[in-house]
Amino acid sequence: MLYVIFYHLIVSVYWREDTLEAQAKKFCSECGEAINPKAEICPKCGVRVAPAPANNSKSRDTAGLLALFLGGLGAHKFYLGNTKMGIIYILFCWTFIPAIIGFFEAIQFFRMPHDVFHARYG
Ligand SMILES: [Zn+2]
Repeated sequence: MLYVIFYHLIVSVYWREDTLEAQAKKFCSECGEAINPKAEICPKCGVRVAPAPANNSKSRDTAGLLALFLGGLGAHKFYLGNTKMGIIYILFCWTFIPAIIGFFEAIQFFRMPHDVFHARYG
């Protein structure tokens, strides 16, 4: 118990000193506690959380730019590995509806925190 409190003190001091790190912090999916983005196990409830994104993972900004400029052809869907949706986008590209959807998806990507993006798309 004391160890947990001690750990929290160290972590909270560390975050106050590094604001950039604080912006990138993630939250435990089990108890909602703010935890170190590199932590594998939540210090509060002990539940394993999603691992930190790998270096070779997909880029949120690339997906956003593809959705913005080539969204009508479903380029971002192919990029994120959703081939079925990509083909549907191409089939309906002449209606310009996929382009409109792609525009809003681009906004969604750019508003999405990086860790949320990586948790969803890898
Ligand atoms: Zn937790």
